[in-house]
Amino acid sequence: MVGFDKGGILKIYFLSFISHFFMAKDIIFSALQPTGDLHVGNYLGAVKNMVELQNSGKYDCFFAVADYHSLTGDMDAKDRREQIIQMSAELLALGIDPEKSTFFIQSEVPEHTELAWIFNCVTPMAELARMTQFKDKSGKQVKNINAGLFDYPVLQAADILLYRAEFVPIGKDQVQHIELTRDIARWFNKKYGNFFVETKAKLTEAPKVMSLLEPTKKMSKSYGDNHVINLADSPGIIEKKLKKAVTDSGKGSAPGAENLMLLLKNFADKETYKEFMEAGKKGQVRYGDLKKAVADGIAMYFEDFREKREHLLIHPEKIREIMGAGAVKARKTAGETMEKVRKMVGVR
Ligand code: ADP
Repeated sequence: MVGFDKGGILKIYFLSFISHFFMAKDIIFSALQPTGDLHVGNYLGAVKNMVELQNSGKYDCFFAVADYHSLTGDMDAKDRREQIIQMSAELLALGIDPEKSTFFIQSEVPEHTELAWIFNCVTPMAELARMTQFKDKSGKQVKNINAGLFDYPVLQAADILLYRAEFVPIGKDQVQHIELTRDIARWFNKKYGNFFVETKAKLTEAPKVMSLLEPTKKMSKSYGDNHVINLADSPGIIEKKLKKAVTDSGKGSAPGAENLMLLLKNFADKETYKEFMEAGKKGQVRYGDLKKAVADGIAMYFEDFREKREHLLIHPEKIREIMGAGAVKARKTAGETMEKVRKMVGVR
């Protein structure tokens, strides 16, 4: 019989405590399509939160560049190849840390599309037809309403559930898809047995940043470059775009001005924000000054980011290497999930 000394037993208790501690961490997943520069809406709605959740050390984080999702749009192959590198570089420059998170490119983990197929076969068409993003996006690309555009929330559900993520840091526009992800988990569990968790969205205090030119709509690059402030925009460009920003709808409400105050709150120093709040109470805000303060705040906030981004983009092969290593890590978890799922649905 093998005997343990007291030290050995303590060591085993310690190791099992540590492993339990690590296993008990909640899982976070989020992904962004490589379809252009990140803008302040993406940052305040999702990426800032991704970085903070990662740095809290409380979560096991999986973050991806969702390149397969971008095939639903009009981009050509050459642009896509560049955009994948650029989005990876931007997220790295913003603080997604491959040492702390599993950070990878979606298409390098083929289990995503495999699980999406299985989920396709438990998802009613009528539920997908309800998705407002589909209606929105098909209105913007009327000549290319492809099946992928209709189906992309299912691939999104697979992205999330492959890692059995409890939480998804995301903007308000994506909440309906997270609800669908929960439904898909339920439909799968009902048919094949209890396996997938019910995921929740993690929203920030700024889940919906509005367009500069049409502040009743969300800020989105698909409306045009002057609607958004990109994180990589130079201080001069930021100032120019803000000069054109709409402040008053002329209908009694001022969603444009409110949006600028939200940006000021998040990007300027506390003192400046307080001054404009006080002026606002007295009805003495000069919009020209407010725009200048927002422009200065944003330009300064992303100064470090712009430098890091530029530096990273000089060596795309290094970015590929980082992302490749992330994919190897991701495939370990993805492979474990799929091994169980294949057995559950009876193809193994
Ligand atoms: P876009 O709408 O500019 O194409 P994406 O659809 O690629 O942006 O969104 C990437 C992430 O940023 C998602 O989590 C989305 O919810 C979030 N997001 C996008 N636009 C905004 C916005 N205006 N305000 C807050 N979050 C946003």
